[in-house]
Amino acid sequence: MAQQQNLSHKRPVPVLPPEELEQQKTYLAQCADLLTQRFGEEHTLLALVHSYGCQQNTSDGERLMGILAEMGFGFTEEPSEADLILYNTCAVRENAEVRVYGNVGELSHLKARRPELLIGLCGCMVQQQHVADKIKHSYPQVDFLFGTHTLYKFPQILWETLSKQKRIFDVEESDGVIAEGLPVRRTPGVKASIPIMYGCNNFCTYCVVPLVRGRERSRMPEDILSEVRQAVADEFQEITLLGQNVNSYGNDLDIGWHFPDLLRAVNEIPGRFWVRFLSSHPKDCTRELIDTIAACDKVCNHIYLPVQSGSNRILKLMNRNYTVEWYQELIAYAREKIPGVMFTTDLIVGFPGETEEDFRQTLELVKHVRFASLFTFIYSKREGTRAAAMEDPVPKEEKSRWFRELLDVQRKIGAEYYQAYVGKTFTVLADGKSDQGLSGRTEFNAVIDFPGDESLIGKFLRVEVVGARNHDLRGELKEVL
Ligand code: SF4
Repeated sequence: MAQQQNLSHKRPVPVLPPEELEQQKTYLAQCADLLTQRFGEEHTLLALVHSYGCQQNTSDGERLMGILAEMGFGFTEEPSEADLILYNTCAVRENAEVRVYGNVGELSHLKARRPELLIGLCGCMVQQQHVADKIKHSYPQVDFLFGTHTLYKFPQILWETLSKQKRIFDVEESDGVIAEGLPVRRTPGVKASIPIMYGCNNFCTYCVVPLVRGRERSRMPEDILSEVRQAVADEFQEITLLGQNVNSYGNDLDIGWHFPDLLRAVNEIPGRFWVRFLSSHPKDCTRELIDTIAACDKVCNHIYLPVQSGSNRILKLMNRNYTVEWYQELIAYAREKIPGVMFTTDLIVGFPGETEEDFRQTLELVKHVRFASLFTFIYSKREGTRAAAMEDPVPKEEKSRWFRELLDVQRKIGAEYYQAYVGKTFTVLADGKSDQGLSGRTEFNAVIDFPGDESLIGKFLRVEVVGARNHDLRGELKEVL
C-alpha cells in the first residue's frame, strides 16, 4: 500500500515559485496580443513543433504545444503553412544534431519569403553553449533559442522576441527546477507520457544528458498522480512514466518514496489502463522493483534495461557501476518472478578502447539473455563528456563490421523469440492502423498487426498470434474485452 501520509512533505529540490509561473502567464497573454498585431486579426495562427530524440523530449514538446495552444495557435506539420516553427532538439548522438542543422538550414528560404515567420530552437542540443554560438552566428533565420532549463520561460522568450524585435538566445546554466502547472497538449491517441523526474546524476562517460538536463529532480508524488488521474479521465489507456533513470525516483526527496511506491500508487488509480516506464538503470533496478512489477496488475511485464556492453572492462570505462554478472542475475530473478516478462536493451558498439574480445563478450551476453529486441548504436563522440577524451583507435569500418554482426545475431534470436508466441492468445491494446488493419501491443510490448476495424483503436482485445516476423507478430482478433 502506498504511503499516503508522506505526500504533503516539503520537497528539498528547487521548484518554480508560483509568482514566476504567474509572470509567465502574463507574458503568454501579451504574446497573444503581439501575435495578433504581427499576423492580423483574421489570421488563423499555426505552429509546427517538432521534437527530435527521446520520449522525454516529446513530452517537453507537448508542454511547449500547450503553451502555444493557449496563445491561440493551431498546429500543422507543413513548414510552409506555419507562422511559428519550433525545433525541440536532441544531443544524444551526432547524427541527430547534423539533421537539425540541415533542417534549420532549409528554413532560410521560407524565412526569406515570409520574414514574419518565427523560427525557434530549444532542447538538449542547443543547451550546449558551442551549439548556441554556432546557431547565432551561422543561422540568422533563427529568431529565438532556449535550453532545457528555461523551457518554462518560453512565453517570456517569445514576448521578448516579438516586443523587442530582436533575436533572443537564452541557455542559462542551471541544475534545473521543477516547473509544475504548465499547460500540456498531448498528442491524440491512446498513450500518454508523464515525466516523473528530470535530469540525471549518473555521468556515464559517453553521455551528454547530465550536462544538458541538470541533476536529478523528482516531481512530488501528488503532482504525478494527479496528472495520471487526468490522463485516465481523458481516456488514455496507456501511461508511460518517464525519467532518464526512473529507478532512482525519489532519492532526492525526503519523503521515503521511491519508484516502487510510485508504481503501487499509480496501480491503485481506478480505471482500465496499462502502465509502462522508461528508462531503467540496471544498478538501481532492485528486487523490490521487480516484485512490485509482478504484484501490480496494471504495470506491464516489459522491462527496458539498457546494458550498453557485455564486457565488464567496458562497463567500467563507461562508469555504469554494475557488472555483467549482476545484470544476468537481475534478469534471472525477473524471469522467475514475472512470467512472460520481455526484456529489451540498448547496446553501444565501438566504445573508445573496445577490443574484438570485448565485442565478443557483448555477443555472448546477447545470446545468453535472448533479448526480444535491441537498440544498437555505434559509439558517437559527444563534446564535453569523459569518453570524448579517451583513445579510440578502432577504425569506423571495424566498428561497422561488429555492428552488422550484432544485428545478424539478434535477427536470428528475434525471429525465434517471436516464433515461440505463435498459437498463443494475448491481451492487446489496439493503438493504431497497419497494413493488416490494426496494430497494437501486447502487455509484454510486442507489436502485433491484425485485421480489425478502426473503431477498435483504444480498446483492449484478445488476439491470437498466427504468424511471426523478426520484430513483430501477426494475429487474429478473438474477443473485444
Ligand atoms: S543514466 Fe547514463 S546514459 Fe542514462 S541519461 Fe544518465 S548519464 Fe546518460
